[in-house]
Amino acid sequence: MRRNRKAKIVATLGPASGDVETISALFEAGVDMFRFNFSHGSHEDHRARHEIVRGLEKKYGRPVSILCDLQGPKIRLGTFNGDSAVLTAGQEFVLDRDQTPGDATRVYLPHPELFAAVKAGQNLLFDDGKIRVSVESNTGDRMVTRVTTGGKISNRKGVNVPDAILPIPAMTPKDLVDLEFALSLGVDWVALSFVQQVSDIEDARKIIGDRALIQSKIEKPAAMLDIDAICKASDSVMVARGDLGVELPISQVPRAQKEIIRVSRKYGRPTIVATHMLESMTESPMPTRAEASDVANAIYEGADAVMLSAESASGKNPVRAVQMMDSIIKEVESDPVYRTLLDAQQVTPRPTPEDAICNALRDTTAAIKAAGTVTYTKSGSTSMSAARVRPTTSILSITPELKTARRLAWVWGIHSIVGKDVHSVDEMVSEAVTAAEREGFAKKGDYIAISAGLPFGESGTTNLLHIATIK
Ligand code: PGA
Ligand code: MN
Repeated sequence: MRRNRKAKIVATLGPASGDVETISALFEAGVDMFRFNFSHGSHEDHRARHEIVRGLEKKYGRPVSILCDLQGPKIRLGTFNGDSAVLTAGQEFVLDRDQTPGDATRVYLPHPELFAAVKAGQNLLFDDGKIRVSVESNTGDRMVTRVTTGGKISNRKGVNVPDAILPIPAMTPKDLVDLEFALSLGVDWVALSFVQQVSDIEDARKIIGDRALIQSKIEKPAAMLDIDAICKASDSVMVARGDLGVELPISQVPRAQKEIIRVSRKYGRPTIVATHMLESMTESPMPTRAEASDVANAIYEGADAVMLSAESASGKNPVRAVQMMDSIIKEVESDPVYRTLLDAQQVTPRPTPEDAICNALRDTTAAIKAAGTVTYTKSGSTSMSAARVRPTTSILSITPELKTARRLAWVWGIHSIVGKDVHSVDEMVSEAVTAAEREGFAKKGDYIAISAGLPFGESGTTNLLHIATIK
């Protein structure tokens, strides 16, 4: 089973897509990675979905990626008398440590970290930014604020703090429990929400080790201020436009998206553009023109993947949404301008054997009009480096490790398969040639370009480029 496109599709599973028929239809329609959103659903829900996805993987003989998206430190208000209150612009509103239900003058804020970090002059946003207040004073257990945008506020609404770096780890006690559960299932990627600094990724890596790769969700202004180091420290990145658009002025989100994609590409970190991509399809069978453009533009910008959230998790048309993304991506990829744009954004090679080989690989495949690029990889790094240079051919990535094959399934241009462990260059070439023919990459008389790292089995050693002819 081969997808005829290079950019990939990520779909979130949820109540609208938890059964085997729907997940199967989503997979057939083109999903390359399934996202399990740990902000919703029970462990049993996730376990059942995991079993279904792995079953399909077996049935179709095609590795699929699973992303465990941890909720992260979502901050919430306490409750209100009568469940809600109305705040008016200009009025004073107090946040305190008193657990009794609040009203239009005050409410409980159950997060001491916030009282420790927030300073007068900073802003707090409630309910996805619908209500805004500006902090006038903070005594460590009582914050007096002035409402700048009013509205109705109800129990346990979310709080965003765009202006401060909060002294909280990227993983909460709930996240730690969810993480161990997800790793015990065998997920391939773990997404960290509300990453603020490089140490958040380092802390997570100490716990996760090599059990999964790490994706940083960029949804805080603080992360944008250190985006270069954060991309470098991560294995992949998500442009999490939902919360990013709450914390940053929404007019800055498109620019941030472009910057995140550009920096991630510099380090060869695959990137997902997420949230509201085909939002109207949650209800309607067709997207708006603007949404279709949004998906197309993310592809033109060079993203590895585009993502569905509510559209596939709780919407009325999960499968149609995937089909729509699939046809938009194919349309972009058939436009010669797409190639021109990818080439114009070509990254400067770093002074490493890996980058030298991958640049040679790109030039070689173009010069000899190779039918395919084959990468032989243990850890996945050779295949990711090849994807980073965006070659004109598709990349047939072969690995003896199922774990690696799954991790690569959503990376730009990669057709990821499991192959046998090889011990010599001759063996590798013969395996590459056989696989290229079998997977429909090349036919008799075609050239393929093969890239790998010697000695086999050592990761991060990409140092070999070989041209083979299919006989
Ligand atoms: P979420 O993350 O859906 O988990 O909030 C994505 C986003 O914020 O865009
Ligand atoms: Mn988010």
